[in-house]
Amino acid sequence: MKPGLKSTSKPARRASARRVSLADRNQPSGGSALQPLLAFGAHPDDIEFACGAVIAQETRAGRAAHLVVCSRGEAGSYGNPRLRVAEAKKAAALLGATVEFLALDGDAHLEMRAAHAVKFAEIFRRVRPGIVLAPSVVENQHPDHSRLGRLARDAARIARYGGVKELRRHKPHAIERLFFYAVTPEAEPRDITPVLIDVSAPEIISAWTEAMEAHASQVSARNYIELQLTRARLLGARAGMGHAVALFPNEPLVFESLSQTGCAARNF
Ligand SMILES: [Zn+2]
Repeated sequence: MKPGLKSTSKPARRASARRVSLADRNQPSGGSALQPLLAFGAHPDDIEFACGAVIAQETRAGRAAHLVVCSRGEAGSYGNPRLRVAEAKKAAALLGATVEFLALDGDAHLEMRAAHAVKFAEIFRRVRPGIVLAPSVVENQHPDHSRLGRLARDAARIARYGGVKELRRHKPHAIERLFFYAVTPEAEPRDITPVLIDVSAPEIISAWTEAMEAHASQVSARNYIELQLTRARLLGARAGMGHAVALFPNEPLVFESLSQTGCAARNF
């Protein structure tokens, strides 16, 4: 190779490596075709209501999904912890996901602690997800939600670090994408352009609805299901599809070319 070409060869090699890594992004060697999805919820029904449709869609496409619920809803006005756990297990099964419950500081008492982020990072290393979903960090919502979003974001970073002594049992793990979800319209970040996921397929809408209905103790007081379906319908109408769910990426998304970026929601 000519010496003069040396300076351009490095970026070329990097570009080539990047193409491979993008192509293989969802095909880890020796594993299933798609890296798992990991979702965090502060309360037993948060994940299902905010983004149950997205999870149903991913599991039906063959991706494993694991839900981590950080309380048993013991501070809620309706239901009781035993019932809430049973409802969450039923809902997770309807979405095709597994679920675990973490005892941290208790419902309505979640605190920002480095130890929690490390505990989450250990889950990242155990589950080794490609995609992580967590509540948005917008503060105008249940305080457990925004704190959990910050803890999950911290954990995504800590899971990559090789020298964290509590995490040495598992190999470091770098996730591919962290998306925030908004349980309510107030929790939608104003400073992040959402990615809209088309969840219009009738079987996805019905799996999502059934998963929300599984939280019978919560839907008896207010029509939360109608609220979420209407939000999805409005987003779908904006994007020229039946229903869509908004997710908010924590970092810029990377595409190999403009043609892979899909369409934009610009129906009006
Ligand atoms: Zn909640």
